[in-house]
Amino acid sequence: MRLILLGAPGAGKGTQAEILSKLMDVPTISTGNILRAAMKAGTEVGLKAKSYVESGKLVPDEVIIGIIQERLAQPDCANGYILDGVPRTIPQAQTMEDMGIEIDCALSIEVDDDVIVRRMSGRRTCKECSATFHVENNPPKGEGKCDFCGGELTIRADDAPETVKKRLETYHRETEPLKAFYAERGKLRLVDNQPGIEATTEAIRSVLGI
Ligand code: AMP
Repeated sequence: MRLILLGAPGAGKGTQAEILSKLMDVPTISTGNILRAAMKAGTEVGLKAKSYVESGKLVPDEVIIGIIQERLAQPDCANGYILDGVPRTIPQAQTMEDMGIEIDCALSIEVDDDVIVRRMSGRRTCKECSATFHVENNPPKGEGKCDFCGGELTIRADDAPETVKKRLETYHRETEPLKAFYAERGKLRLVDNQPGIEATTEAIRSVLGI
């Protein structure tokens, strides 16, 4: 299964990607996580991306395409993958298609903006492994500590309310048109936001038939 997860920032793509990765035994490729790791390590890509990521803007398409090309060439992607947060613009989707990157389904998790804004204010992210939690909907077992690696949980700089607003505007302007792009190719599936994480996973499984 080669799956793209579409949806606004905070729609639950990362959370569902983690769950679906285990269910389908394919890796998740999150350009956001790759960029944050590169920024932390101070690599050339990280330095290029920093000012964009921190202000809630999109990183230039050529940087993203370079990352994706390198990552998808790795052997663990041979049997499929979940793309979380990429493509994010029509030029990225078009370039990926031109490069011969195959997609079986683009699944959009549909969540209203007001729900997103409320949700993002409670999001906590592990500094070490990037796992995400939510103070109310998905709290960690130990306060401030990651369940998976014990790393410190922090609020992402770009989850600040003003930045979230900007990221939502960017989503509607640049990313939402991808729904029409994949609908034209008969690949688009929609899943409405559900009251909880498990219910959303069930809705996705039913749409994907897995
Ligand atoms: P995310 O973790 O997916 O919310 O991504 C965090 C930030 O990384 C975004 O706000 C962008 O600045 C950058 N980013 C991640 N993926 C992409 C992409 N495909 N295209 C452009 N920028 C991206």
